[in-house]
Amino acid sequence: MGFLTEAVPPRHAALPVLPGITRIVADNPGVMTYHGTNTYLVERDDGLVVVDPGPDDAVHIAAILAAAGTTPISLILLTHAHADHSGAVAGLRAATGAPVASFAAPAKPDFTPDIALADGGEIRGFTAVHTPGHAADHLCFAFAGAGGEKILFSGDHVMSWSSSIVSPPEGDMLDYYRSLQHLLRRDDEIFLPGHGPLLREPRRLTAALLAHRQMREQTVMAELARQEWSVAGLAAKLYSKQDLFLKAAAQRNVLAHLLKLKAEGAVLEVAPETAEHPDNIAMAAVATQSESWRARVARMQGDAKRRFSLAA
Ligand SMILES: [Zn+2]
Repeated sequence: MGFLTEAVPPRHAALPVLPGITRIVADNPGVMTYHGTNTYLVERDDGLVVVDPGPDDAVHIAAILAAAGTTPISLILLTHAHADHSGAVAGLRAATGAPVASFAAPAKPDFTPDIALADGGEIRGFTAVHTPGHAADHLCFAFAGAGGEKILFSGDHVMSWSSSIVSPPEGDMLDYYRSLQHLLRRDDEIFLPGHGPLLREPRRLTAALLAHRQMREQTVMAELARQEWSVAGLAAKLYSKQDLFLKAAAQRNVLAHLLKLKAEGAVLEVAPETAEHPDNIAMAAVATQSESWRARVARMQGDAKRRFSLAA
């Protein structure tokens, strides 16, 4: 799909990304985090802005402070409240006194930003772009680089190395589609994601990610037209994941697709199936083959094909 790979970056080092912007990769590699969470340090006239402090790791916080040196850290921006991005907020705030700015309604009840941002909110040269889907509180941050480049700190909404998990109820597939479409209408030139390397020509991958989900959704609808499925069964059919954690992630993505289809009226019933699946993540989906539903399938198939050729 045009994903990027990179060698394992050096830990605890400030890696130059673009003029005035460095990156420190946290030591939290994993199937969901690639080599680790990216923390960015952005030079401004009145000090450094940190985008995503990263996980709760004293060594990582020490690396951020060491990279800043004698330059004060005057603002902390948070793309979303997931622990691999926000865990270091408390430690970094305590060490620097810098306020934390994030979405006005954080997804975590125990987290309150010092500065609440809404879509379009401006702060220190950054513009918040509300992009729910992976997380309801997800913000991207648009920023003009030293050479005038249109940069977007894209968090976990669009990552260069992988697609994002959309896990209900916090993750919402309909929101995710809309947020991808929102970025496709923008003219950002470079994405700096929460995981993985810098991404140029970001609209190509963004379009491919959307097309991928539309194809997946088309397959889901076709399967539902044939028979009744559990989420776990459908995920096993559609994904070839051996890793247990990725298998669970695949089920969350399938569930997100079903809830989107349900919200749009395509799938009649998405019922809890807790007895059969004690992990409580499986649901059964039953589709009707009504006239409107068949028309919807046809329209979506055409749409997905068009977007795919556009992305290719
Ligand atoms: Zn993340």
